[in-house]
Amino acid sequence: HAKVSGRNQYQFFSKDMNRKAKSRLELETRMRRALAQDEFVVYYQPKVSADADTIVGAEALIRWMDPERGMVSPGEFIPVAEESGQIEAIGNWVLLHSCLQNKAWQEAGLTPIKVSVNVSARQFHSRALLDSVVQVLEQTGLDPKWLELEITESMLMNDVDTAVRKMKALRDLGIGLSIDDFGTGYSSLSYLGRFPITTLKIDRAFIADVDTNPKTAEIARAIIGLSRGLNLEVVAEGAEIEAHISFLRDNGCDTVQGFYYSRPVAAGEFEKMMRQKVMAHA
Ligand code: C2E
Ligand code: MG
Ligand code: MG
Ligand code: MG
Repeated sequence: HAKVSGRNQYQFFSKDMNRKAKSRLELETRMRRALAQDEFVVYYQPKVSADADTIVGAEALIRWMDPERGMVSPGEFIPVAEESGQIEAIGNWVLLHSCLQNKAWQEAGLTPIKVSVNVSARQFHSRALLDSVVQVLEQTGLDPKWLELEITESMLMNDVDTAVRKMKALRDLGIGLSIDDFGTGYSSLSYLGRFPITTLKIDRAFIADVDTNPKTAEIARAIIGLSRGLNLEVVAEGAEIEAHISFLRDNGCDTVQGFYYSRPVAAGEFEKMMRQKVMAHA
């Protein structure tokens, strides 16, 4: 290895940082344009009743149709939006559009379903969240029982009392609250009884090997049992194969979401699935 002087190292490092900061800034600029130019789309992934194969809900998942780069996944831009503060505007956009769409499906005479919207940490902690939800419900006329927010454990743990107060205020509006990716965060089980939630969503890491790993299967069973004991709805995410579905059905998991039934799809395609009544698997 050639000897590198401290000075050269410094220059290399700062060039790299410059490049990162620049592409980061470009992403932020493109996101701002994306919102203004309607490049975001809400996709919907069905939540299916495991024993009836009927759609009982949907998770709203944002997609970005970037004219230059094609579809960008939320894993790429949501964390940046979260840091730059753009998540509040984007999050409100998703909330509004999901509720408008759900209301439109109801007015078209389809069997009502609950739509779940992801809320990021920054949105959850924002003072504006409650007002935004109130405003969207008013604006769309959606009955609050058809809206659920998905939050994660890690958002709740810094200041549990404040989080509980916020959750209660949201629940008082009549909407549902779900803990997403349950089992991967670091919340203590002792808090679970204090959280005014309606749903637990078992993280897909557990579902992935329920059919092959007896210990994982036991943990999944325990989460299902815990949900039942606490009178919560339980949703399994990431069910991909028949073996996952049969495990979940046999172990009393009400609701299943995953590629087995369908990937997240555009609203029009989702509506077609709703009209079919019974889900075929993908
Ligand atoms: P999440 O809320 O846990 O959403 C579930 C993710 O798992 C989605 O990825 C979905 O497409 C994927 N998934 C569903 N079924 C399966 C399966 O059977 N197998 C596998 N491998 N994956 C499955 P997606 O849409 O890429 O979203 C990733 C994450 O981005 C979400 O995780 C959520 O944290 C975030 N996100 C998506 N949309 C929004 C949004 O509108 N607002 C906020 N704040 N975050 C969002
Ligand atoms: Mg989610
Ligand atoms: Mg999840
Ligand atoms: Mg996740």
